[in-house]
Amino acid sequence: MFVTQNVYQLSGRRGARPSGANIFLLLDNSVTVVDTGLSSRTASILNEVRQLGYKPPDVAHIILTHHHADHMGSLAELKKATGAEVMAHTADAPYINGSLPQPGPARPKWLAKVLSPFGRIWASTPVEVDKLLNDGDELPILGGIKILHTPGHTPGSICLFIPQQKLVIVGDLLTNRFRPGLPSRVFTVDMVQEVNSVKKLASVDFDIIAFGHGRPILHEARPTVTRLAEKLENKYKVQGAMK
Ligand SMILES: [Zn+2]
Ligand SMILES: [Zn+2]
Repeated sequence: MFVTQNVYQLSGRRGARPSGANIFLLLDNSVTVVDTGLSSRTASILNEVRQLGYKPPDVAHIILTHHHADHMGSLAELKKATGAEVMAHTADAPYINGSLPQPGPARPKWLAKVLSPFGRIWASTPVEVDKLLNDGDELPILGGIKILHTPGHTPGSICLFIPQQKLVIVGDLLTNRFRPGLPSRVFTVDMVQEVNSVKKLASVDFDIIAFGHGRPILHEARPTVTRLAEKLENKYKVQGAMK
């Protein structure tokens, strides 16, 4: 589905298999892929690229919103097939290039312990990050993409703000499985930081929000995020923790 005229969303796989993350194609002179879903999505991504009138070598960039395996599963294969430049936030790059192991569930501790022998379920093929991103960086794609560092879910989670489209792509900062809300606590490293990042997102001037999981909100999305940020702030009492 098209989220805006130039942004196309491939939905994550559902059903019996764990649902992979949504994948976004930003259509400009070249194609930018945002997140790559679970492994074995490469063929379907390249298929969509062709359907949209581009060729695989036109895929010039791959941006990861964060390092989780449901977002970087097809990264190695897709990079190989396209030669695209891989970009991710500095703080998540070590998990992507394999210099730090992919952590399993963040909590509860007992679950992390029980599941640690199965760590390879989360493991993805390590891939070198070609360009490190930081808060406030701007990329010359679709009239300018602004990088917002929104840590909490992972240390290097980012949102992509595209002012010309009034669109934010938020990765797993928020999900929209049934209604917009926080991602699973099990896989989120720091909930207080996460709520602060939702507040940061609410300060951005967008109309459309696209999630790593679930359907986008295509109109007047910002008040929804603002209300959510206020609610979460009270619930998690993070007021004093704001930087
Ligand atoms: Zn995810
Ligand atoms: Zn995630």
